[in-house]
Parts: sequence; structure tokens; C-alpha cells
Amino acid sequence: MSEDRKTLEQREQMTDIERLRHSASHVLATAILKIWPEAQFAAGPPVENGFYYDVDLPHRISPDDFEKIEAEMKKEIRANHPFERMEVSREEALSMARRGELGALGARPEPSKFKLDIIENIPANEKVSLYRNGDFIDLCAGPHVMRTGNVGAFKLTSVASAYYKGDEKNPQLQRVYGTAFKTKKELDEYFAMLEEAKKRDHRKLGRELEIFVLDDDVGPGMPMFLPRGAAIIDELEKLARETEFAAGYQRVRTPAIARESLYKKSGHLPYYAESMFPPMELRGEDTRSLILNTGPSSSIEHPASSIGHERSTDRYYLKAMNCPHHHKLFAAVPRSYRDLPLRLAEYGTCYRYEQSGELIGLMRVRSMQMNDAHIYMTPDQFEAEFNAVNEMYLNYFKLFGIEKYLMRFSTHDPSKLGQKFVDEPELWKQTEVMTRNVLKNSGINYVEVPNEAAFYGPKIDVQAWSVIGREFSIATNQVDFAQPRRFNLVYKDKDNTEKTPICIHRAPLGTHERFIGFLIEHYAGNFPLWLSPEQVRILTIGDDAKLLDYSMSILNELRAHQVRAEIDKGTDQINGKIQRAEQMKVHTMFVIGKRDMDADAVSVRVHGKGNLGAKAKKEAIAEILLSIKERRP
Ligand SMILES: [Zn+2]
Ligand SMILES: [Zn+2]
Repeated sequence: MSEDRKTLEQREQMTDIERLRHSASHVLATAILKIWPEAQFAAGPPVENGFYYDVDLPHRISPDDFEKIEAEMKKEIRANHPFERMEVSREEALSMARRGELGALGARPEPSKFKLDIIENIPANEKVSLYRNGDFIDLCAGPHVMRTGNVGAFKLTSVASAYYKGDEKNPQLQRVYGTAFKTKKELDEYFAMLEEAKKRDHRKLGRELEIFVLDDDVGPGMPMFLPRGAAIIDELEKLARETEFAAGYQRVRTPAIARESLYKKSGHLPYYAESMFPPMELRGEDTRSLILNTGPSSSIEHPASSIGHERSTDRYYLKAMNCPHHHKLFAAVPRSYRDLPLRLAEYGTCYRYEQSGELIGLMRVRSMQMNDAHIYMTPDQFEAEFNAVNEMYLNYFKLFGIEKYLMRFSTHDPSKLGQKFVDEPELWKQTEVMTRNVLKNSGINYVEVPNEAAFYGPKIDVQAWSVIGREFSIATNQVDFAQPRRFNLVYKDKDNTEKTPICIHRAPLGTHERFIGFLIEHYAGNFPLWLSPEQVRILTIGDDAKLLDYSMSILNELRAHQVRAEIDKGTDQINGKIQRAEQMKVHTMFVIGKRDMDADAVSVRVHGKGNLGAKAKKEAIAEILLSIKERRP
């Protein structure tokens, strides 16, 4: 949440819905003043999914007051007052505030104390402006919708306490939150989505469906996956492995820790140090000589003790990203232009030190396995490679039924070269132009965001919306021209000279943690068969020995075909068994009674679809195998 004053530029970029919500906050203030004329207002910006207004008032506003406030808001909206902008001199604004007229319906005995303070802090080059709707006048830079009637549908949602300007030395205010939309339909849909999102919360479903756990002894932000979660991971890795293999990637393996010097070379130290776990110190071991001794020249004539005369402290870090290790693998073998593009892939485990207050279920974690790969290429190959990466994203979206997505293309700000961005103006220009062209030509849904690139190149963040419309940031793509240089990565070009490759960092499936969190909510735990932690459960009607034999033979056949199948041999009624399987959202149930056995058949039941009737055993198994093989939705 930003307590900062918006720049003029940011205000111009305010979206229609933000204008509408900001206007709703003025309507809210108007309504509060009609009920409590002494209310003093501070700031009332639009925020994600709504708006708020901070108010200082002796009466403690509670949700019980919302109906009354909303009724006043409706009156103001029905009156359809225009939002009128007035530009005034600083002096005039100050004297109005002293008369209590700002954030007010007219003059009051007390000055508008927060508005006075805000005026003092308006930059000298900015005009002071006021907005009026009906009797309400507020100090405000805007922008607004045309009339109060444009605030189509709204609802107050909560009230919290907040310090003025977020500083606990300042007075505590009441922050009244609401949300607003153009139409009642959109408002209703939003609340229905919130209701549904609560049911789908991956933390809740993750526990109920035995997918992952967090444990205090293991540590905050370090999820462990139970067998059911690990099954999903296996499927995702298989998917990535097959897709990447077909696209010409090669898999590599690297350790989870590395020496400090690696991260100094990459620049992660010191720039990224805050996001890394503190180092491990190894004392009294000269590991450089150990490395020498594992090489081909290792021999008894050079024992470690004779080379390793300097025994100092050595520092190791848990890896926060896989790139530096992969760069080392690029450099490990002489490369020619004929070897490029070189695509190195690894589901690498990384560790990042996120603030404990920011850890959320699987969405913000400290240990993560990433669908990582680094593609090294010549500038000529960039377009085709980048296109292929995007193509891979789109295919994954299709597979998972992700219909709404957005790629945020973050570029650099030339005025911050050498500080926030590597000082390579030409390379920035080139790669940004190349990237922009590919995005334009491929018809991908993207927006350009200036000043948010990575330190070493433009990046693309991928946002996806789950079926119920919840937004997730799931993946990043980066174009990197700086790190290959820092690592002295070279290839021999056609003209026999050494050139530096460009590198694309890409992770279409993001991290297992975040992606599985997304998938749980996207599918509400009802995974398609191929992803389902338990694909088939066999439920016997009764516990006749022959029936059990028949069921076991089906179980063994399914398992022989790598189907994740289980059997419920419980002695209770079949309805109880069905209920247990449905509760765990097992995809397919084979219900087997004596009649099924005699016909060499099974009765098929699919979670969420109910009983599909009896099928020949052979046919039922063949259908399962085909659906898994084709990764049907
Ligand atoms: Zn305003
Ligand atoms: Zn990378």
C-alpha cells in the first residue's frame, strides 16, 4: 500500500476504475459528514480492489454504521452532482483549510488539520486544486469521473485503524474501506468471486487434500509436500521435461549452495544480499586445493596440505537463483556459434530470505523449486528463441485452461543508467526493441511498464487469472545481456572472433510452490485426471475374498501402467467409501460388486460427475490411460 503522494504522471495514468473508486471515496466522505459534521479527513485514494478514506472522528465507526453511511452515499449518487475542479492559490487553500472548509460541507469551528498539513507538502511546481461535489469540497489533485452518478455500484467492506501517513507517532485514524464498480452486476460478481476464492484458498484445500504442510520446526516459508503434493510435482516436472526436450533443451544439475565468489561475480552480492540467507562460514579448510586435487592432475605428489598453505574462512551461500551455476556450465566447455542456441534447464531448488511478515502459504515462500532454464544465443537467434519461449507459455496456458493472462513488459529508465540499471545504453535499446517487436508480432496480450526492468535487462512478468478471476503472478522471463559479460561467457563466431552471447532466463511454470498454489485455486482441488494426486480409487462392495482378488488384480494392472491407484478395502458400506473418496476429490472411482466381477467389468464414478455406469474392465482402464496420456482437461 502506498502512502506516497502520486506523481502527476501517475495520476494521468489512473485507470477508469481507479477514477471511479477515488470518486467513491469523496462520496463516502460526503456521507460521513452528513452524519458526523465534525469528521476530519486525511487521505482517500483508490487501492487494489477498492478505495478507502482515513477519518478522524470521536465516534468509533463500526460495520453497524455501514447501512446508515451507505444510505447517505446513495443519496449523493442519486443527486448526480458534477465533480467540479477548481484551481486556487496556495494561500487561498490554506485559508479555506483554516476555516475548516476542506474535506467538509462548509465552514466549521475547527480547521481541516490534515488538509492544512497536506497543502504544506504539495510540491511547489504542482498546482493546488480542489474538487467539489454538491456541498462537499476537498483538497484533491483528481482525476475524477464526471458526476457522482457515475459511481454505479458500491459497498463498504471494513474499517481498520491506520496512523496518519503510516507513522505511529502521528494520530491514529479510522480507515473506512469500500469497493465500487460501474455496474451492480460487476459488484455482485466481485463478491461472488471473493466467496468462491475463500472456498478455494490453497492453504485450506492444501491441508484438507493433504497436499502440503508448513511446520514450525522446519521453518516458516518452507513448505513440505506430502505424497499427494509430490504426485502433482512429478507430473509438472514430467510435463516440463517432455516439453523442453522436444524444444531442444538439455537438463543439467547443480548444487544448492555456492561459494561467495560466484555471487560476487554475478553481482547478486552485494545487490541482492538482503534476499539471500546469511552465509555459512567454513573455517580452516582450503577448499580451492581440494578442487585442484579432483582434477586430472591430482596425484600423491600434491597432497592438499602442500598446496593449501593459506587456511582462511570460506563463505558459502544457499543459492537464491540458478543462473550463476548455469553460466558456469556454459563456460565449462569451449562454445562455438554452431553450439548455439544452448538451452540449459533445471528444476533447481532456490532459497530466498523473504520477510517473515510477507510469507503466505505457497505464494510467498523461502524455499522454492523453479522451472528454470537459461538460453544462450547469438543476437540473430534472439527473435526465434524468444518467440519459442512465448509459444511455450501459450501452450501451457491452453493446457491448464488459463484463458486470461497478461505479460507485463518492464523496460529501463535511461535517466537511471548506472544506478538502477546496468550502464549499457546501446544494449538496453537493442534488446528492448527486439523484445517489443517479438511481442507485437506475436499478438500476445502485453503492456509495457517503464522503469521496472531487472538490473541486467528487460523482463516480462506473466500474470494469469484463475477461472474465478483471481489474479496470480506466476512466471518471469528475462532478457539478459549483462550477466554473460560479467561471467566472461564467449562463443567463437563465424569470423573466428569471440563474442558474448545473450541470455534468456525463463520459467514458464514458475516455481512448484506458486504454481501448485495457483492450480489448487484454479481447479478448486478438482484436478484433471493426469494431475490428480490419486487418479483411481477402487471401492469394493463387501469384502468377499474373490471380490478382493478381482479388485487387487485391477489395482496391480493400473499401477503397472503407472496410474496412481489405491484400493479402499474397508468393511463399511459402499456409500461411506464413496463419501471418503469424494471428500479427497479422487478423480475416478471404480466401484466393484459381485455383478461387476462376474461380467469382468467395473462401475465407473467420476468426482463431480457421479455414476457413469458399468464398463468392461479393459475399456475402463484403456480410457484412463488415454486421458492421462493426452493430459485431457
Ligand atoms: Zn480526491
Ligand atoms: Zn536466471
